[in-house]
Amino acid sequence: MTDYDPELFSALVPMFHEELLTALSAHLSDYRYQHCLRVEKQAMRIAQEIGADVTRAGIAGLLHDYAKERTDEAFRVMITAQHLDAELLNYGNAIWHGVVGRYFVEQELGIHDAAILQAIGRHTVGDPHMTTLDKIVFVADYVEPGRHFPGVEAAREALANSLDQAVAVELQQTISHLVERHVKIYPTTFATYNELGTN
Ligand code: GDP
Ligand code: FE
Ligand code: FE
Repeated sequence: MTDYDPELFSALVPMFHEELLTALSAHLSDYRYQHCLRVEKQAMRIAQEIGADVTRAGIAGLLHDYAKERTDEAFRVMITAQHLDAELLNYGNAIWHGVVGRYFVEQELGIHDAAILQAIGRHTVGDPHMTTLDKIVFVADYVEPGRHFPGVEAAREALANSLDQAVAVELQQTISHLVERHVKIYPTTFATYNELGTN
């Protein structure tokens, strides 16, 4: 069974795990909170299997959707306050909850670890230069056992081969899904697909 390194956890998070769960659940509906718990476990399992940082993977997995249920107005205020690219204002919650959500995690939960915040920031749109931790959270979110969409099995099978293969399948399927729905695709999503999702 994979578990947190207690010393590293307390160096990264200024509260006990139990308190972190309380803080997370205060901002999320029960179904999304349960999803976050499954992503925490899934990310720790992947990290364990490939010899990556289990503790950072668990924390980033747990908190990846921390800001998902904030209002559009709260995100707009944060985009302005943090002087983020104004182009972000042309998108919505799907993009904001990760790219902008990382600032809510930092400010409200007091987590300042750059690698954790980056993985949260990249969990939806990825990045052409994703680190192993970024990839773990990106894929754990997509394949956690509560996911049942068409294509999830293909991603799980890819993950059994390698994390990079799972990243590629996820990017291919996500791009196709977004095009089918005729929704606007964030430029980073395309850039990530071009770098990590193509042959
Ligand atoms: P969730 O927060 O656990 O539901 O999962 P994600 O954060 O990975 O994705 C949130 C939503 O954003 C999903 O419906 C994705 O398909 C969608 N999404 C991913 N990339 C893009 C993009 O570039 N543009 C848009 N509009 N949606 C995206
Ligand atoms: Fe998300
Ligand atoms: Fe999620």
